[in-house]
Amino acid sequence: MEDSRREFLKKAGVGSLVGLGVVSAISAVAETTEASSGGHSDASGTRFGMVIDTKKCIEGCTVCSEVCHTIHNVPDHRLEDGTPDLKNEIKWIWKEPHANTFPSKSGQFISDELAKKKHAVLCNHCKNPPCVRVCPTKATFKRKDGIVLMDFHRCIGCRFCMAACPYGSRSFNWKDPREADSQKVIGQKGLDREFPTRERGVVEKCNLCAERLAKGLIPACVEKCPGKAMTFGDLNDKNSEIREVLASNSTIQRKSELGTGPSVFYIV
Ligand code: SF4
Repeated sequence: MEDSRREFLKKAGVGSLVGLGVVSAISAVAETTEASSGGHSDASGTRFGMVIDTKKCIEGCTVCSEVCHTIHNVPDHRLEDGTPDLKNEIKWIWKEPHANTFPSKSGQFISDELAKKKHAVLCNHCKNPPCVRVCPTKATFKRKDGIVLMDFHRCIGCRFCMAACPYGSRSFNWKDPREADSQKVIGQKGLDREFPTRERGVVEKCNLCAERLAKGLIPACVEKCPGKAMTFGDLNDKNSEIREVLASNSTIQRKSELGTGPSVFYIV
């Protein structure tokens, strides 16, 4: 299984990054950036994407969010009474009610079960990302493999990207994210110093586990999902598992009518 993952990633062009540390991986990330911000990926190249099968997603399960937020040091700000500080919430992957996930799809005559469902949402790593087009410092950019990334050091906190993203996929650090570290104990709750922590005043979001891809691994949410609800792969590879899943199921994308070209598809 592990061998086949490595083989897949090698074919997809990230195998050469295996073994690089985070700093080196960031350099590699920069090298694979598209020259023109917001441009489309080369149709003959790699375009990473994901399919989420909402029928397999387990109600009430938050494993994808927990594992992602743990390995990426996503701050979990709390109020004095220990409840979540929603005003300062930072989210990379989380669950949204059906009506919020697909606001433009007709909600008429759908089953009560579907109407009540919550779906996993994350950055769509859009083919034509408006966030990238509006960023004045190129702190957010799209790689040749379709992944939309953030360079935290370049972010000036203008939040144009947040205004441009029609999915609310980006969070802003109003508070020092490291303040939340004090609630974690390294090694116990999994604070992972390999992944850089951020500073107050920067935007962050899902990076499709670019640092794991560089090591030949698949995104953590996909790997750890207990319902096996997520499929990750190269949308441009006709022989990939993700294309097989897309070909054998009817899928929808979030707000596809906006022309952003989400790389995350849903089976509902
Ligand atoms: Fe940018 Fe939002 Fe699209 Fe992600 S979902 S690429 S943040 S516009």
